[in-house]
Amino acid sequence: MTYTVISNCQDCRFTDCVEVCPVDCFYGDERMLYIHPDECIDCGACEPACPVEAIFPEADVPEEEEAWIQINKDKCLEELDSLENVTEKVDPLPTAEEKKSRLGL
Ligand code: SF4
Ligand code: SF4
Repeated sequence: MTYTVISNCQDCRFTDCVEVCPVDCFYGDERMLYIHPDECIDCGACEPACPVEAIFPEADVPEEEEAWIQINKDKCLEELDSLENVTEKVDPLPTAEEKKSRLGL
């Protein structure tokens, strides 16, 4: 199993999650982060750290977000060279607060 990042992260990129990950397995593009499925050790530390509830254990991803399980895998296994390993908190995207409100969070 692994944890996965769903669409709530898109246009937020708060990056609180990377601060608590013991194995630095978050990778990002300009819109969001993804979890590397082979590096994640399923510790669960990141799930409560995300201010927009974007992180779930693979088995608990809401049905309408299940496509993101494969997207996290494809991004980290096939396109890792195009992603940045994000290990320190950085400023969220300018759209983050608006997206958070839209999510009702
Ligand atoms: S804390 Fe949540 S919104 Fe922020 S980068 Fe991590 S998964 Fe995305
Ligand atoms: S579950 Fe643990 S190892 Fe996996 S991404 Fe979250 S903090 Fe990192």
